[in-house]
Amino acid sequence: MARPRHGPSNTIVIKLGTSSIVHETTHQPLLSTLSSLVETVIELREHGHKVVLVSSGAIGVGLKRMEMPSKPKSLSGKQALAAIGQGRLIALWDNLFGQFGQPIAQVLLTRGDISDRTRYLNAVNTFKELLHLGVVPIVNENDTVSVSEIKFGDNDTLSAITSSMIHADYLFLLTDVDSLYTANPRKDPSAKAIDVVSSISAIRSQVSTKTLGSSLGTGGMETKLIAAEIATAAGVTTIITSIWYFNSAPNSFCSG
Ligand code: GLU
Repeated sequence: MARPRHGPSNTIVIKLGTSSIVHETTHQPLLSTLSSLVETVIELREHGHKVVLVSSGAIGVGLKRMEMPSKPKSLSGKQALAAIGQGRLIALWDNLFGQFGQPIAQVLLTRGDISDRTRYLNAVNTFKELLHLGVVPIVNENDTVSVSEIKFGDNDTLSAITSSMIHADYLFLLTDVDSLYTANPRKDPSAKAIDVVSSISAIRSQVSTKTLGSSLGTGGMETKLIAAEIATAAGVTTIITSIWYFNSAPNSFCSG
């Protein structure tokens, strides 16, 4: 299902969910997690790889800024919080990457940007230019203008679409478990890790994806499988793993 292309310079998309960015209840940014991911990205860049981050967390950071206890129910409430949080989120990334002199860029996308050919090509060209300049683009959904009909819906899907747009070699869907499991390993001790999937449709019957993501995020394993289906169909090798496992040996994943 995946294109076996492990050249010396790979294009790598890394997706980070809200639960890796802010604490689920206090909404404080998880600085040590974010810093170690930044160090990993810098290491990958030093090995000649091009890296794009897909970062959720705008709403989570907005909640902290406004000292609100939970995500509002209304669409406009969520959009307002995303608008409040996105600037601080990108400032946080810029601060961390800035410690290494690594420039970043903010790319906010909506579904309309990829369904219209001209806008799609413009976005592709912008990504190409940013990667050519050695910048790390940091992508999120443009929540402030995305209404329900045009939303990607979750950043797993957004990261899969981004990977196919830029013909990435790898997509890493980073989560809080180290692998795809037959069930949620936190709740079901008999859950077994699935190391390699060669057919996503065949694996569906073996995997229970009932558990949704954290209370702040929108994902969970179901959206990760959908994202893996989109990305692998476009030839992008997709890896579901934990942020800690990925940070421990990023090059071992990408060196073939
Ligand atoms: N775009 C949303 C945010 O930045 C998150 C979407 C998701 O959780 O997948 O808060």
